[in-house]
Amino acid sequence: MAGNWKMYKTPAETSTFFEKFRPLVAGSTHCEIVVSAPFTDLQTAVEAALSTRIQIGAQNLFWEKEGAFTGEISCPMIRSTGATHVLVGHSERRQYFGETDEAVLKKTLAALASDLTPIVCVGERLEQRESDDTELVLIEQFSKGIAGLEAKQFARIVIAYEPVWAIGTGKTATPEIAAEAHQMIRNEVQKRYGEDQAARMRILYGGSVKPENVKSLMAQPEIDGVLVGGASLDPVSFGSIVNY
Ligand code: PEP
Repeated sequence: MAGNWKMYKTPAETSTFFEKFRPLVAGSTHCEIVVSAPFTDLQTAVEAALSTRIQIGAQNLFWEKEGAFTGEISCPMIRSTGATHVLVGHSERRQYFGETDEAVLKKTLAALASDLTPIVCVGERLEQRESDDTELVLIEQFSKGIAGLEAKQFARIVIAYEPVWAIGTGKTATPEIAAEAHQMIRNEVQKRYGEDQAARMRILYGGSVKPENVKSLMAQPEIDGVLVGGASLDPVSFGSIVNY
């Protein structure tokens, strides 16, 4: 169960969040819990999550280790904060910052090389769904973005299916629509990496997940977890999503 805080919260707000969130998930041993926070909150979040099962992630990375790349943050820098996960290819990065599938592959490889778990996001835009191109888009994002990984590398990633039309819009994909897309992705995993890997692959659903709809989404065997934006900012609502 992963949260994506996007560009919200200062370190002080991060501390307040964890004070409330920690006890709510202290007994939640049924899943892994990840909070992806802004770079400036990572250290505070890692410290606040010490001795708990909560893991901390970043939301982006640059693939070079260091160098003249003003404004960028590398994987060793993220790792040095104690964070263990990183989002790659979130639709907001693709949409507003021109992130391509080729960049997604480079970032995924860099994350793995620094022992970070990449949560790689894929998903179609509304017009692509309406023109019946969902499968085509998912296959393309898969083949250009992650199918370049070796099997050993692929086994260490998590995929998040996030239909762009459902992110921050209040429009959740129905559990059936989400499960159908997950199946499309899993089919590609099976073709490229085999049946075992396809069965083991964790695919999260993201897009307006709330305490009210998480149960029906998680009831789909195809959905292994959720990636939560807006509702992860509030400790009580993210806590009830984790404990669905
Ligand atoms: C996200 O940011 O990944 C996301 C799914 O956002 P929201 O839950 O707000 O739709």
